[in-house]
Amino acid sequence: MTLAQRIDHTCGRILAAMDACGRSDRCDLELAVKTRTAETYREAARLLADRGLPVLLGHNRVQEARATAEAIREVPGARIHLIGPLQSNKVNQAVSAADLIETVDSVELVERMDHRLRSRFPVFVQVNTSGEPSKHGCTPQDAPRVVAAIEMASHLYLHGFMTVGLNSDQEHAVRTSYARLRQVRDEAAVHLCTTDTDLALSMGMSADLEWAVSEGATIVRVGSAVFGPRLQR
Ligand SMILES: *Cc1c(COP(=O)(O)O)cnc(C)c1O
Repeated sequence: MTLAQRIDHTCGRILAAMDACGRSDRCDLELAVKTRTAETYREAARLLADRGLPVLLGHNRVQEARATAEAIREVPGARIHLIGPLQSNKVNQAVSAADLIETVDSVELVERMDHRLRSRFPVFVQVNTSGEPSKHGCTPQDAPRVVAAIEMASHLYLHGFMTVGLNSDQEHAVRTSYARLRQVRDEAAVHLCTTDTDLALSMGMSADLEWAVSEGATIVRVGSAVFGPRLQR
């Protein structure tokens, strides 16, 4: 399959999953890009734009986002998210290359970011919903503290929540982790007196996007289903 066919196929999966659970809101495709060339990312961004879809690319590494942002931004409307861990010494680089950071997971990082930012910047709170020690993200119990710190910050605003789901082929267990993120989001929405639809849920990847859509994902992050198997760095 060509890149275009794989994007169409993935969009078909998202729509079928929305249909299957009777959802009539929207779920966007975010292309999770890693280890490919800037030209590949630009081509993928063009294909999204050609289809009238949001042009959303998620980078795992700040370095790669910096190296490829210019090519991606040739496509009008392209938005770049950081979906990999952010070290506090890379905050400046990250906010200059990305439009949104999905991986804010501690009060300390919120404070450091707020200190360095000069204008308002949108973020997601990353939550570890699977309990796997290898995963980044705050615990679901700590999420309200991180949300509160963002509310206190002058230069950050909360745009949603992100999780990397349980790495398993057991549907119930994986869906439980996604449902947990939805719960965290719903509780934050009540607390912030906003509607839950204003807060994104970024969850689901190539292998399990249908389960994430069933649990309310508004953004799925898809890499290998569109770009092929991951390459070694
Ligand atoms: C690579 C990556 C994805 C996409 O994973 P695939 O299984 O290749 O679809 C999603 N989220 C994050 C944070 C990633 O690093």
